[in-house]
Amino acid sequence: MAKGVLLIVCGPSGVGKTSLCDALLESHPRLTMSVSYTTRERRGDEIDGVAYHFVDDAEFARMREAKKFAEWAEVHGNCYGTSTEVIEGAWHEGNDLIFDIDYQGARQLKERYPNATAVLVAPPDFETLEQRLRSRATDSEDDIEIRLAAARYELSQYPLFDFVVENADFDRAVEVLESIYVASRHTRHLKMEWLDTMLGGTS
Ligand code: 5GP
Repeated sequence: MAKGVLLIVCGPSGVGKTSLCDALLESHPRLTMSVSYTTRERRGDEIDGVAYHFVDDAEFARMREAKKFAEWAEVHGNCYGTSTEVIEGAWHEGNDLIFDIDYQGARQLKERYPNATAVLVAPPDFETLEQRLRSRATDSEDDIEIRLAAARYELSQYPLFDFVVENADFDRAVEVLESIYVASRHTRHLKMEWLDTMLGGTS
């Protein structure tokens, strides 16, 4: 049973997940980002241990065999995984976690922690998504084509998710994501201990 909010935020590359997560993190100190492990090459301004823990294929395989991952998946030819230690560490600190992961990871985390909250971020349409990917200019033309093809499939996975946030207007999308987080903080399973203690004294 999850001991804090596990807020999974998924959506195609370029949909604005990272900016949405950053905005939420800024105004909610209890919420921390789950830093994943990846075999992908570091991009220009990414800091090891902040954006990702960058590891080589051998290290990733070793961690996988040692069952260090709560979930892992291959995305666009690279491996990405969430360490179980990161999740348990956050709970130990009394923190909630936000995950910027793909749909395969969302599926695995929901299986392992059914109380996790899974959010799908969708673009208003595919033209907008393509524009955003091109303006980001961190990926090659081939990468953009691969990511666009993957986007349609990723969005078709919507039955896995509890909530869908349309990112047409950024501020509005932040507001909606924030409401989902606040509501998740008040789900019954996170309030049971407190209620049982209160009732213990009177029943
Ligand atoms: P990027 O390479 O653009 O940072 O991320 C590519 C994709 O991998 C994104 O959809 C991102 O959400 C996903 N991703 C990042 N970390 C993880 C992870 O730990 N597990 C899974 N399953 N996907 C991840």
